[in-house]
Amino acid sequence: MIYLDYAAATPMSAKVKNAMETYLSAEFFNPSAPYLTAKKVRDSYEAAKDRIAHVIGAKGNDIIMTAGATEANNIALAGASHILYLITEHDSVRNIARARGGEAISVDKNGIIDLKDFTTKLTDDVDMVSVSLANNELGTIQPIVEISEIIKKTRLSRLERGVKTPLYLHSDASQALNLVNISVARMGIDLLTINAAKVYGPKGVGALYVAHGVKLKPLTLGGGQENGLRSGTENVAGTVAFAEAVSDAHEHINGNRKKFEKLSETMRKELVNCSVEPIFLGNRKKQLANFVPVCFPGIDAERIIFKLEEQEIYLSTGAACAASKGEKSHVLKAIGLTDEEINGSLRISLGEGNDEAQVITAARAICQAVNEEYARING
Ligand code: PLP
Repeated sequence: MIYLDYAAATPMSAKVKNAMETYLSAEFFNPSAPYLTAKKVRDSYEAAKDRIAHVIGAKGNDIIMTAGATEANNIALAGASHILYLITEHDSVRNIARARGGEAISVDKNGIIDLKDFTTKLTDDVDMVSVSLANNELGTIQPIVEISEIIKKTRLSRLERGVKTPLYLHSDASQALNLVNISVARMGIDLLTINAAKVYGPKGVGALYVAHGVKLKPLTLGGGQENGLRSGTENVAGTVAFAEAVSDAHEHINGNRKKFEKLSETMRKELVNCSVEPIFLGNRKKQLANFVPVCFPGIDAERIIFKLEEQEIYLSTGAACAASKGEKSHVLKAIGLTDEEINGSLRISLGEGNDEAQVITAARAICQAVNEEYARING
């Protein structure tokens, strides 16, 4: 099989799985129980949180463990009263922001934030801005430091004018965590979502970094775990596995980036040989190295995916959740693609298991499928 959908899910290594298994069976104790064996589990849990937090330049106490990025995004935004969110955000940001009457910030044709639109909409009642570090369909990396500079200036101006509304920056880094060096302090981020499922950890495990002083609404009320924001017995096994996976990814961040730059370049070079000229989406210089979002205008991308599946080559048209509902991608609409272009779009996202030979084989299979479709439509 050739798997090219790492933005949707990543496999766990044996090392991560073993680390996880220990806390599912031998060390199964509730970390809040009073006996020594349980206290040791508490220590392992806190140490795992420290390791996760370290990757984003934070401390374990600053992060709230969650059951995935959707939960983290919801905790971040649930208590805000006026949210500005990027129009291309993942549904787990978009839907909570919209439910709270949030306003969308537009993007340019590459999916990069329109800073003019942002500053115009940044009125004195805005208390939350949510801009992902990297988009899950285009891999677009946002200028988060520029955005946080604007936010800092706005806070100062509010202070001088006696405006009391707080202003926070939330960023969903689900896709970026294993390819971008993240420092919440350097980047001026108040709330950061991370996701184990995208960094070769378990699904249903995520975290939210919460800067000191940020007031949030609890997701669940109960035993008061996770600083009272997400009550419920801690997922020790999932947290330990996340720590193991993310530490590994972080150690190899530069090497991985180089590897994916090379592989995605090979993919692009091969795809230009298809009989339909591909349009590569996004700006290569401002994109995650493992992303190759591509459009073959006039071709039905879903038919391409089914044809490739027969050869055990797996990729997708866009976000897995939108695809499963049969909806047209709001991301591709936001960057101005026509319906025909959206229908012809594929999201290729590379990962650990891919090598040069796989990429060439897959690209040639994609071209063959595109060529067959082109011949079928054009007789
Ligand atoms: N945010 C982004 C950018 C994502 O890519 C995803 C997963 O696809 C999520 C949030 C949601 O993550 P989960 O389904 O693990 O809650």
